[in-house]
Amino acid sequence: MGGGGSAGARRKERTHREPRHSGLADPPAMWGLLLAVTAFAPSVGLSLGAPSASELGLSPGSTLAPHSNLTQTSTKANETSGQHVRLRVIKKKKIIVKKRKKQRQPGPLVTARPSVTTNPAKTPTLPEKQEPGCPPLGLESLRVSDSQLEASSSQSFGLGPHRGRLNIQSGLEDGDLYDGAWCAEQQDTKPWLQVDAKHPVRFSGIVTQGRNSIWRYDWVTSYKVQFSNDSQTWWTSKNHSSGMDMVFPANSDPETSVLNLLPEPQVARFIRLLPQTWLQKGAPCLRAEILACPVSDPNDLFPEAHTLASSDSLDFRHHNYKAMRKLMKQVNEQCPNITRIYSIGKSHQGLKLYVMEMSDQPGEHELGEPEVRYVAGMHGNEALGRELLLLLMQFLCHEFLRGDPRVTRLLTETRIHLLPSMNPDGYETAYHRGSELVGWAEGRWTHQGIDLNHNFADLNTPLWYAEDEGLVPHTVPNHHLPLPSYYTLPNATVAPETWAVIKWMKRIPFVLSANFHGGELVVSYPFDMTRTPWAARELTPTPDDAVFRWLSTVYAGTNRVMQDTDRRPCHSEDFSLHGNVINGADWHTVPGSMNDFSYLHTNCFEVTVELSCDKFPHEKELPQEWENNKDALLTYLEQVRMGIAGVVRDKDTELGIADAVIAVEGINHDVTTAWGGDYWRLLTPGDYVVTASAEGYHTVKQHCQVTFEEGPVPCNFLLTKTPKQRLRELLAAGAKVPPDLRRKLEQLRGQKN
Ligand SMILES: [Zn+2]
Repeated sequence: MGGGGSAGARRKERTHREPRHSGLADPPAMWGLLLAVTAFAPSVGLSLGAPSASELGLSPGSTLAPHSNLTQTSTKANETSGQHVRLRVIKKKKIIVKKRKKQRQPGPLVTARPSVTTNPAKTPTLPEKQEPGCPPLGLESLRVSDSQLEASSSQSFGLGPHRGRLNIQSGLEDGDLYDGAWCAEQQDTKPWLQVDAKHPVRFSGIVTQGRNSIWRYDWVTSYKVQFSNDSQTWWTSKNHSSGMDMVFPANSDPETSVLNLLPEPQVARFIRLLPQTWLQKGAPCLRAEILACPVSDPNDLFPEAHTLASSDSLDFRHHNYKAMRKLMKQVNEQCPNITRIYSIGKSHQGLKLYVMEMSDQPGEHELGEPEVRYVAGMHGNEALGRELLLLLMQFLCHEFLRGDPRVTRLLTETRIHLLPSMNPDGYETAYHRGSELVGWAEGRWTHQGIDLNHNFADLNTPLWYAEDEGLVPHTVPNHHLPLPSYYTLPNATVAPETWAVIKWMKRIPFVLSANFHGGELVVSYPFDMTRTPWAARELTPTPDDAVFRWLSTVYAGTNRVMQDTDRRPCHSEDFSLHGNVINGADWHTVPGSMNDFSYLHTNCFEVTVELSCDKFPHEKELPQEWENNKDALLTYLEQVRMGIAGVVRDKDTELGIADAVIAVEGINHDVTTAWGGDYWRLLTPGDYVVTASAEGYHTVKQHCQVTFEEGPVPCNFLLTKTPKQRLRELLAAGAKVPPDLRRKLEQLRGQKN
């Protein structure tokens, strides 16, 4: 019933835009389908023979409340936005809540903590934060390995228990090895999914989702929970007052995470989820996370249980806007000589886009000192990058005070700019939902509903058009392409956050950058957009492919998880087969990406780092994630030394020449000098013929050799003014033309004629 068409559209959308890491170019189309499903709510019954939620004596409001509450708020926040974030969630929730209310089933609260229950009738008040008690065991983060998951049955390998992880994303083909949930066989009358915590823990709650799939909709509507210490003898979570088995109400769509806290936490090693009811004509399919606290282990029987440590004493928490501002201020107060906080603009909701600058001379571009930047959180729900940058600024400050030579050198030789939150509005939305309930999409977009990584001007198309016409670089430059006129029109859909970053890019002569995302483990490098129009994926290297591959490999090669040869793929692609790096367009085309824009509009080389399988890891994971990334974050910054650098000066005055063009033979992409005439040209080791040219000067060519030694290799230029330029300047100064110059000019004129 139109389903094929819509799903086809969805597949197209997915392959087109950002199929994997974002997974969520898809929700628009998917939610459309969902709405269609919920419109037929009465026919979406529960499976036969199983009691409906109303028959279970449950109070659905109690578990739905936190979600409906927060969903409403966040959806409201997206009302003004464009297409993807419509009112659908509100509608859907309202339908369900109303329907259930009519059935008037007063029942015991399923949730054990009052903080997550609200009265749906009242205007929802936003709690400061959703904290569902114990931390996750790690189904989503992959801390729980595949071998710890077991099930009564599975429809196929791709729907095996190892796929029953919260937020796991399916591959493009249904029925392949990477389907979107654990699904029991349809004839399995007593399905269960089991998690072995490997040592006793205190289980406190369960988060579930339905199946993430292109063609199918499946979700479990209720389940029971059992525990065991030996996987032989099991006991069931009971209802306090009735003494009956607890039946937890579960999902009503494939994506929204639903939390159930146990009425009484249980200490055990094994936990089983036993689906009781599910979508009619469907199968019991779910994705889950288990919440569990460590229990004291006086005899140290399970030493592997405690490995989440970092040797650095840093603030390992998630920071909302206020807390982030406070932390940055603290770092600034601790290290006033090497830090400066500034804002590059405001989000749509008026939150400032704060940058922490770190250098020995903050606030100043020193001649010859390269500028580097890290940008995190352009997708607000991809929260790890933000915290890593906040940790990095603390770390650099502490280590500088301690006199660490590596950090001191870094801060003396480079000027570092850290933007932890490019989309603070989106982050606040995600933060309020909490790390386990935020799901895959909420908070991704700005408050206006804009995906910032599609919002930069597409300069690839005009460049490639000019290249195809044979105009580059003689008529059209191969660098610093101008903003297209449509992009600067008053009614152009350009987010304030995007403009703020563009102006920032133009203001500071950045050389190197990385921008941090989450939801995968891979480093991707430009171009992000495929050269063949509408191709979903296609290898599209830049003229600087060698440099970009080097930069990406440096990050991937020094990141601990990416280097873990035993790690399993996050979702459906195994990037470890290619060194955990990929050309962006070869993964999925992204028109209007920040990386491509940065490369084509400025001198700055930028890559995308996908930091973790889990977009919003639990706070408990932060020390480990810091350790995973610490060396990579430092080593990547040090790559700004790779290649050549120098100053282009006027031979007579010895003044630096701004906007001189540095061209490298064989690389069809030039860079330009900053105001002081200084430049940096990232290059991998090799012999290069480098040309410096500037208006009014004779072009100078020289050989520059980049070795494996630490650079940058100095490659300075002295340019001589052309006679024409000298004349122009003399005449402008009101002077008479000296005889030698006049003779030269006459000679030239004669040659021309
Ligand atoms: Zn992202």
